[in-house]
Amino acid sequence: MAVLLSTKAAAMEMWRDALLALDPTLEIRLFPDAGEPADIEAAVVWTAHDMAELRRYPNLRLIVSMGAGVDHLFRPPGPPPGIPVARLVDRMLTSQMGEWVLLNVLRFHRQDLEYRALQRDRTWLELPAPVTAERRIGILGLGELGTHAAGLLRGLGFPVMGWTRRPRALDGVEGFHGDAGLPAMAARSDILVCLLPLTAATRGIVNARLLGLLPRGAFLINGARGGHVVDADLLAALDSGQVAGAALDVFEPEPLPPGRPYWSHARVVMTPHAASITIPASAAPQVVENIHRARAGQPLLNLVDFAAGY
Ligand code: NDP
Repeated sequence: MAVLLSTKAAAMEMWRDALLALDPTLEIRLFPDAGEPADIEAAVVWTAHDMAELRRYPNLRLIVSMGAGVDHLFRPPGPPPGIPVARLVDRMLTSQMGEWVLLNVLRFHRQDLEYRALQRDRTWLELPAPVTAERRIGILGLGELGTHAAGLLRGLGFPVMGWTRRPRALDGVEGFHGDAGLPAMAARSDILVCLLPLTAATRGIVNARLLGLLPRGAFLINGARGGHVVDADLLAALDSGQVAGAALDVFEPEPLPPGRPYWSHARVVMTPHAASITIPASAAPQVVENIHRARAGQPLLNLVDFAAGY
């Protein structure tokens, strides 16, 4: 039985080597050279792989999606019905995102946009001292990434709040959940961090209504998906001063076309979907573990919940 591997050409061999280093007995076939379709028992694939193609393999018993985000799996036609799909939950993905969130929280908290503008103008001017204990941070989504980011921010002394679908108790983090919890948290979020999965319920959630609930001059940090933000609403909020700055890693579409206003907006800091990048050697152990579990008929790790949408 064989494992089908399909990802960006540049990462294909790194992934193959990382999987083989853990289990040299694996027979790995690099897409499109799948060989005999009946041999394929597991498919380790990323967003560009056509989910309809996976219906060719009659003995497929596991699909691994090579990232933390799973929204691409919900686009028609979706994965073959009845085949479990696992995502990656990886220590290095999580810690990279934590660093990116910290970088941008500190950028806004320490008035870095203002100091860079002053430097460009050769102006020596001390701004009022920022007070960490008074800069309230609201995190949309306290999953793998949001929970870690919340812990880092707590550690620095920021008051941290988090919004989830179901009630969730996290030490030192004030919890909000459901439709009623969102406005309550937003009204107190000096910095709003989005680390939600993109689902039917969360698409466009960062819109004029939500941005209008933030304290005037708040900041937005989006490391989740471009589809969470209504771009026209964010640009209007930035231009009116309701939002004082935004750090964006994700966009719709990607790559962001050169003509889009974010590229040159003085109050927007961009990265090209690079907040957190999968490192095959770090992520491979859970993939191999899941292949072994699937063979043994054991419960799988990090399964996508198709009913919940993430
Ligand atoms: P998880 O699935 O672990 O956590 C998702 C969190 O969002 C949970 O706390 C969940 O609530 C909450 N949530 C989901 N739907 C809703 C809703 N309708 N209302 C309120 N809360 C909701 O995801 P991860 O933390 O692993 O990843 C989050 C996202 O980050 C990914 O889906 C991906 O899109 C993005 N990402 C971006 C990367 C980048 O480089 N920019 C890299 C990796 C991921 P509950 O706790 O109740 O389930």
